[in-house]
Amino acid sequence: MKLLITGRPGAGKGTQAVNIREYYNIPHISTGDMFRAAMKAGTKMGLLAKEYMEKGQLVPDEVTIGIVKDRLLEDDCKEGFLLDGFPRNIKQAEALDEFLKENNVNLDAVLDVNVAQEVLVRRMVGRRVCKNCGATYHVEFNKPKVDGICDNCGNALIQRPDDTEATAVNRLAVYDEQTAPLLDYYKKQGILVTVDGDQDFDKVFEDIKAVLK
Ligand code: ADP
Ligand code: ADP
Ligand code: ZN
Repeated sequence: MKLLITGRPGAGKGTQAVNIREYYNIPHISTGDMFRAAMKAGTKMGLLAKEYMEKGQLVPDEVTIGIVKDRLLEDDCKEGFLLDGFPRNIKQAEALDEFLKENNVNLDAVLDVNVAQEVLVRRMVGRRVCKNCGATYHVEFNKPKVDGICDNCGNALIQRPDDTEATAVNRLAVYDEQTAPLLDYYKKQGILVTVDGDQDFDKVFEDIKAVLK
């Protein structure tokens, strides 16, 4: 299965990506996670990405497109992959299409997790992530067993620096301006499928399996 998952910031892409990765046994490639890993490692690319991520802006296309291409060429992507958070604008989508064509790869589907804007600031501001294993929680909607501690690995949960209210609002605006046009782009290709992301976690995944059948 070769998939893209898209949706507004906070829609539940990362959460559902974990389910999809396990169910279809494909690697989960998140550009956001790759940038955060580069920041943690203190690489030059990480430092550059940080500047943009802090403000809720997109990291420059040249950098982003390059890391995705390199990642897709790795062996574990041969049978399938789930790209999460990429592409985020038309230029990235065109670069991806060109790359896929060169490598004779077809996408099976572009999955849009649709959640209305109003719900999302609360989802982002309440998001907590494990700084060790990356597991995602929510202070109201998906609490860990022990406050502030990861169920999986026992490490501390943190709030992403870009999950403040002001940055969240800005990320939603960037989505509307730059990422939303992708829905039409993939609709025209006939591969767009949509699920309602404003439902219980398990119901969203049931719907995903149904639309991907
Ligand atoms: P994205 O990757 O699209 O930004 P996440 O998967 O990180 O979104 O989810 C954003 C926040 O919303 C997280 O705190 C997550 O636990 C929570 N969340 C995800 N799906 C749901 C849902 N169906 N209902 C309520 N909260 C959710
Ligand atoms: P969310 O799941 O909440 O939408 P991500 O982890 O996908 O957040 O992205 C966090 C930040 O990383 C973005 O606000 C942006 O600065 C940067 N980023 C992630 N993916 C891309 C991309 N494809 N192009 C440019 N910037 C990106
Ligand atoms: Zn953990």
